[in-house]
Amino acid sequence: LHVAEPHFVAPSSLKEALEANAALDALALAGGTALAHLVRSRLVEPATLVFLGRIAELQRIERSGPVLRLGSGCTFRQLSRDLAVQEVAPCLGRVAGQIANPRIVSVATLGGALVHADPRQDLQPLLLALGASVLVASPSATREVPVAGFARGLMDVDLAQDELVVEVIVRQRRRRQLAYERFTPEASDDFPTVAVAAGLERSEDATISDATLALGAVGPTAFLVPAVRELIGTIAPDQGVIEAVAEAAAAASRPVADRHGSVAYKQEMVAVHVRRALRRVLGHDASGAA
Ligand SMILES: Cc1cc2nc3c(=O)[nH]c(=O)nc-3n(C[C@H](O)[C@H](O)[C@H](O)COP(=O)(O)OP(=O)(O)OC[C@H]3O[C@@H](n4cnc5c(N)ncnc54)[C@H](O)[C@@H]3O)c2cc1C
Repeated sequence: LHVAEPHFVAPSSLKEALEANAALDALALAGGTALAHLVRSRLVEPATLVFLGRIAELQRIERSGPVLRLGSGCTFRQLSRDLAVQEVAPCLGRVAGQIANPRIVSVATLGGALVHADPRQDLQPLLLALGASVLVASPSATREVPVAGFARGLMDVDLAQDELVVEVIVRQRRRRQLAYERFTPEASDDFPTVAVAAGLERSEDATISDATLALGAVGPTAFLVPAVRELIGTIAPDQGVIEAVAEAAAAASRPVADRHGSVAYKQEMVAVHVRRALRRVLGHDASGAA
């Protein structure tokens, strides 16, 4: 059986890429770290691959006041080295630079990560805790959607055939702290078995004005644990509050049993790592947050 090789196009502008991508059976190709494998094993059979790596406007990082715009073509390495990212969301840059191995860090992109939508990926919980949104474009329109809800399941996102992810938008909050914890029972560069991102924002008088907690790898998508803001309260949360949030997070998680552990073990690991992340954002732990 002969299966035709996909036609390869490498446009140099977003406009051309959107036009090429709108064709039925076209697929965007960014870093290729996920897609190359899917094409090789014929799990997807695109007629055309639209390579996005020559489009300068997708590789830009721009900051305008409190708004940080990250081009979808930015590699994890770019995110890890950019000064604006270090100022607005230092935790995001630090985590991006440590994913998997240097080859992945140097080629995998933000847009590819969002659209591949493997629930074990590292950046989604952080983007959820940051309240980030995604700018999506088709040849005729653009729309901004929250990262929360963008992924519907593994390789299933809120994106039409003729749409591309253009950028991710993160808004700076001056008194926001973020902590990320990832647990891997075997090699530290594995995909996480449990990923936890905790975000905390304070008002000028140091009362807590917002709190978010996102989990990765323990459900069909990364997700925000509901009602964390209410559980945390506005004044200094004590050990009892941390415990209540850890329990709520474990109860909200839906891990699957595999060689890394049973459902009960993974839920216990959710609680352990939520406690750690919360202690860090609350300043109870000297290793700190950013
Ligand atoms: C061995 C290995 C280990 C890894 N470990 C981790 C890990 O621990 N943590 C982690 O977070 N990641 C990890 N990754 C990376 C992750 O799994 C994905 O491979 C990566 O994020 C995909 O990015 P990419 O740019 O290579 O996307 P591609 O492979 O090019 O594309 C992925 C999907 O996104 C679509 N796409 C790409 N860009 C756009 C766009 N702008 N608009 C619309 N659609 C688009 C493609 O059509 C395709 O469907 C690992 C990868 C490998 C190979």
